[in-house]
Amino acid sequence: MGPGPSNVDPRVLRSMSQTMLSHLDPVFVRVMDDVQDGLRKVFQTRSPITLPISGTGTAGMETAMVNMIEPGDTVLVCTGGYFANRMAEIAQRAGGKVVRLEVPWGRVFEASDVRKAVERHRPRIVAFVHVETSTGTSQPIEPLAEVLNRDDIITIMDCVASLAGEPIDVEGNGLDFVYSGSQKCLSCPPGLAPITLSDKAIARLSERKVPVQSWYLDLMMLRKYWSDVRVYHHTAPISLNYALREALRIIEEETLPQLYGRHRLNHEALVAGLEAMGLEMFVEKEARAWTLNTVKIPDGIDDQDVRTGLLRRHGIEIVGGLGDLKGKVWRIGLMGYSSNRNNVHLLLGALEELLGEMGFVGGGGGAALRAASGVYRNAESQDAGIAPIPEEKPVRVG
Ligand SMILES: *Cc1c(COP(=O)(O)O)cnc(C)c1O
Repeated sequence: MGPGPSNVDPRVLRSMSQTMLSHLDPVFVRVMDDVQDGLRKVFQTRSPITLPISGTGTAGMETAMVNMIEPGDTVLVCTGGYFANRMAEIAQRAGGKVVRLEVPWGRVFEASDVRKAVERHRPRIVAFVHVETSTGTSQPIEPLAEVLNRDDIITIMDCVASLAGEPIDVEGNGLDFVYSGSQKCLSCPPGLAPITLSDKAIARLSERKVPVQSWYLDLMMLRKYWSDVRVYHHTAPISLNYALREALRIIEEETLPQLYGRHRLNHEALVAGLEAMGLEMFVEKEARAWTLNTVKIPDGIDDQDVRTGLLRRHGIEIVGGLGDLKGKVWRIGLMGYSSNRNNVHLLLGALEELLGEMGFVGGGGGAALRAASGVYRNAESQDAGIAPIPEEKPVRVG
């Protein structure tokens, strides 16, 4: 229950034990087609260049930067956390003139501020993170997309921690270059970075005056392997592609609305439980991610002791803060296969017990589990079309 890798469905694990095929075998080519079709569905796009880069989420980030930036291009990076900083650093190494628009960690961007920065700096590229895993924020996409949807701007969005967890409509929002990672809400092992490009981004590729400095991540070549031409570029990680294909099938079976609903519900139940326990969330309600929850560590409680306790006693991993948030927050992931009611209950019960033993006087006495159960009960009664059930009364069985 950290910020990834998340747990993997046994179906996905089994798919990886299938026999090895050549990267140009006709059967593997069908696997590639399935992967691309499945990715188009989760990204919500029809884009021809929608494929998994061989590498982790950061390889997706790097692919975006080196293919979209030409030396000297002004790149506006909206930075409010660790991963946005990484974007800025890579953009700079790719030859971009980086301008940062900053918000304090834990906050999201207002469209009006982005508009002002765009008018002032006239960037060719604007980059932002959807779910910032270092802080637990979820940047509302639509308002930014409205400001950025212009012919002269390429918009790059990082959704490593949110694809297949929170609603993302790439085509509907006119996003140009969007990348993710396999090991978070897609619930695959790490090692693939799905990307998708708009027509505008594809045009930018062919208009380049300088070739992409990275041979391995050059999309002009890679696209030929991932299209009908099928020109060898590098050996695809075969087993990881089996895994991604199976994970995408599972997502399709669940359907996107159900999937988003599940992530939202488990997040709300977790937060209700944490707050009932007497803990405080780091991010304001409106800006909270569903896939990654940041909660403040109460005074007098040792960060590491709690995490070690959870891991030793229950095999639960949660993670501490990055950078300035080290020692100040815990980061609790509810991603993909890991986003389920049992995990929420187990963590809340275990945390309440541990904190109680350490002398933390919060809600206590099972308040956390009661609050979480209340959230689930309300959701169930809404689904069944009946009024929410009032506070529970003990039910006698038999
Ligand atoms: C995890 C993550 C990354 C980096 O992905 P790796 O797979 O670790 O390379 C980038 N951006 C965000 C928002 C992430 O959560």
